[in-house]
Amino acid sequence: MRTRFAPSPNGYLHMGHAYSAVLAHDLARAKGGEFCLRIEDIDAGRSRPEYVEAIYADLGWLGLEWDDAPVFQSARLASYDTAAAQLKAMELLYPCSCTRAQIEKAAQTKGPEGLVYPGTCRGGKADLSKPHSWRLDMARAVEIAGPLHWHDMAAGTVQAAPAIFGDVVLVRKDAPASYHLAATLDDAADGMTNIVRGMDLFTATHIHRLLQALLELPTPAYHHHPLLTGADGRKLSKSEKAPSLSQLRQSGADGRQIAGDLRKGIFPAGISPDNA
Ligand code: GLU
Repeated sequence: MRTRFAPSPNGYLHMGHAYSAVLAHDLARAKGGEFCLRIEDIDAGRSRPEYVEAIYADLGWLGLEWDDAPVFQSARLASYDTAAAQLKAMELLYPCSCTRAQIEKAAQTKGPEGLVYPGTCRGGKADLSKPHSWRLDMARAVEIAGPLHWHDMAAGTVQAAPAIFGDVVLVRKDAPASYHLAATLDDAADGMTNIVRGMDLFTATHIHRLLQALLELPTPAYHHHPLLTGADGRKLSKSEKAPSLSQLRQSGADGRQIAGDLRKGIFPAGISPDNA
């Protein structure tokens, strides 16, 4: 068994990250498997080295040791390019020069990740002199892949329904891949057998499962755990005022004790899992 914790270094981790890391770590360790750390830093504009340092320190403080050297997505750009080229050769990607405003104006439906792209640039209509992303031709991809499912440790067998996302971006204008493409490729490259992550990424798995089929990658088992919410009932987030793990660590709180409590389902005051 191999699991991973895959934070984006664009802010300090909070209790929800600690919970996710503890679950991923313990799942692997219970089976004598490996727990890995992947730094999802393809977003060069938002990733900062001090957040990476804090991730190391926070995990150490929680008493979580990882195996292998940490993987940095910024060091894997060539593999994302190769996969994108493969999808282009299969005529599954097309360039899109639409701005956010243009999409907001033309979009007619909403999917799990916001507006469904109305397909304006499909059929070679992008203005290639402008910055452009590359989108998946979802209808064609779904047709090629056929029916797909994955095993979810909480939800059981889930039929993948990626079509509702529409033509998602797989290569961003400002980054050499999207989260979906990079994460799917890395999970396969690093031999992940079980993906432990928050419920907020449950819907993303529909797309990841499709990409696995198109790129002939293995499908791991998934465990989407409840998100932690604060006293206001809203999920903890990096941008909110929820105390960061770094603050707790620096204030002298006992990280190993906190990790032990999270294992027993005991959460700090005001924090609880969203079991809805
Ligand atoms: N980097 C993502 C995040 O911090 C997690 C990705 C994943 O676990 O697949 O939310």
